[in-house]
Amino acid sequence: MEQVDILLSGGIVISMDAAFTLIFDGAVAIRGSEIVAVGEREALTAQYTAHEVVDCSGQYVMPGLVNAHTHVPMTLLRGLADDRRLDVWLMGYMMPTEREFVSPEFCRLGAQLACAEQIRSGITSFADMYYYEAEIAQATADAGMRGVLGQTILKFPAPDADSYEDSLAYARQFIETWRGHPLITPAVAPHAPYSSTEDLLRQSAALAIEYDVPVLIHIAETRQEVDDSLQERDQRVVDYVNSVGLLDAKVLAAHCVHIKISEMHTLREHNCTVAHCPTSNLKLASGIAPVTDMLKFDVTVGIGTDGPASNNDLDMIEEIRLAAILAKTAANDPTALPARQALLMATRQGAEALYLGDVTGSLEPGKLADIVMMDCDGAHNSPRFRRDPNAVYSEIVYASKSTDVAHVMCHGRWLMRDRELLTLDEEALKQRARDYAVKIDVFLAAHEGDIFSKLLAVTQGMERGESFEVQTKAILRDASGLERLLSHPDVQILKMNHYRQYDTYFEFDRAEVGRLRYREDDLLDDKGEAQAVRSRLTLTMPTKENTFHSSVLLSHSRFIAPADRPLRFYREYFQPVAERELQKDRRRWHLHYQGVLFYLNVDQVLRPEAPDTFIEIKSRTWSAMDAENKAYRIQQMLGIMGVPAEDIILTDYLEMEGLPD
Ligand SMILES: [Zn+2]
Repeated sequence: MEQVDILLSGGIVISMDAAFTLIFDGAVAIRGSEIVAVGEREALTAQYTAHEVVDCSGQYVMPGLVNAHTHVPMTLLRGLADDRRLDVWLMGYMMPTEREFVSPEFCRLGAQLACAEQIRSGITSFADMYYYEAEIAQATADAGMRGVLGQTILKFPAPDADSYEDSLAYARQFIETWRGHPLITPAVAPHAPYSSTEDLLRQSAALAIEYDVPVLIHIAETRQEVDDSLQERDQRVVDYVNSVGLLDAKVLAAHCVHIKISEMHTLREHNCTVAHCPTSNLKLASGIAPVTDMLKFDVTVGIGTDGPASNNDLDMIEEIRLAAILAKTAANDPTALPARQALLMATRQGAEALYLGDVTGSLEPGKLADIVMMDCDGAHNSPRFRRDPNAVYSEIVYASKSTDVAHVMCHGRWLMRDRELLTLDEEALKQRARDYAVKIDVFLAAHEGDIFSKLLAVTQGMERGESFEVQTKAILRDASGLERLLSHPDVQILKMNHYRQYDTYFEFDRAEVGRLRYREDDLLDDKGEAQAVRSRLTLTMPTKENTFHSSVLLSHSRFIAPADRPLRFYREYFQPVAERELQKDRRRWHLHYQGVLFYLNVDQVLRPEAPDTFIEIKSRTWSAMDAENKAYRIQQMLGIMGVPAEDIILTDYLEMEGLPD
């Protein structure tokens, strides 16, 4: 008799080996971290004596599941902002909250909570991309799980790095520290092509190749991403990352929702693998990944839950089922992605997707003992038909539940016995997560009510602009008055531009939060054709305005930021109670009057249509004395133009009478 440590005895052994060996009264012998034998119960009990014999009758004994893509610390952000578009969800909620809260402690706690949830779902290996990945590695190793853990690298500042050079340095350090660990494979994770620069992608690939570790990245998740890539560089996303050499590394590409057959061939040629995340893709309405085609063209595809903020759970059983079901509807073919293949993608093929195919993913002698035992005799899984042995795969994929998972072992160590977690204090973790949620609620509640901080959260390079400004506006009835001013000996014209301006004003229920303007400025050439377009957001706070000489206003508190996302984004993010539009033709002069800089606008309001031409004169100011002096000069310029006092207007265009709503 040979001595082993553990003998799993009885039960239906689902090996997921190359022959898809099924043993209906089977056994698995384990010594240390390794599987030494898989076979009939009778044969193995005759051959081995074990320190621990586990009766697995009434259970499936199968490989630990592989979650091919997730962001484990985001358990702490689960359910924070659902039912929104990807960009609003990511840029509007996730990233601002992450900037505020993500810390080493946050990442470790979130990872621990995720490990608890994943073990309960039968997962023993997962691929992760997040910040402070060394903390996640520690949490994962302590929980006894296997992880391919990618340090995120972004082109903009991240919670754990001010620049991508810092992230790369962190990644290098992380790899140095963790490579060779029995459970942890460190990896490099440039977030996505659209959040990377070309140099960042090249350097990430070089680092991964230097240490022979995987690259984890999001690829072609949305149609928009593909459209932007085509517009920017006339290349589809896979073609682009290939052209910069990224695919020379061992790439695990998440999503690949919008890739063509030619891109599948490119992935295959480079032995790159894919993580299919059906729930996340459906929830964010990103689309349905062409999984059937990818498999047809021999691309290795695993299944991932994606992060718990976009799923919202880490339930692999549910994910496998959805992958199988969704592929059928997508292909309009009920034979597409059969149950056995779906389970393969979550076991052996999933392990291959994580570049762990030689150590886990199937129950075979020589592989590591990553094993799950699931009850198979629940009411939802009765009765069992014996005619076709493959029916066990459909039992698991179409009827089993995560709650059927009874015992989980990873690397020969028990992580869960009889549904009790052995490496994590689940109650304590849940309590600490609740404490975080209270803090995040307070932060977001403050942020939600305050347009200024919402604006700050989604813009870069916001400046407090024209904080004090003297200005006047009047009806210009006589064009010769303008000629007179522009040719006046005290006036020196510095430059003149011609614009078409499209303004959308967002109004909010409380006037004190201010009003937000989204302005698209089309700079027109001599022929009136747009030659450059610039979009900006301006938050105008409710102002205390002074008047000078009864015709010049002093206003303050405006915040200006470049608007690099479409109007639709800001509408969904700020959720105004009302919107108003204003469109005008503006000629804008920068001029010196008696050596002092003024801006002179001649405006024709096109929408809502207004019959008059308006003139505005403005200048920045910084003191009461300066404002007084400039107000006096504005008065003089109005005099030169012959504008009578009754034509002076002290309100915004939006508030002017005669302009319809
Ligand atoms: Zn993801």
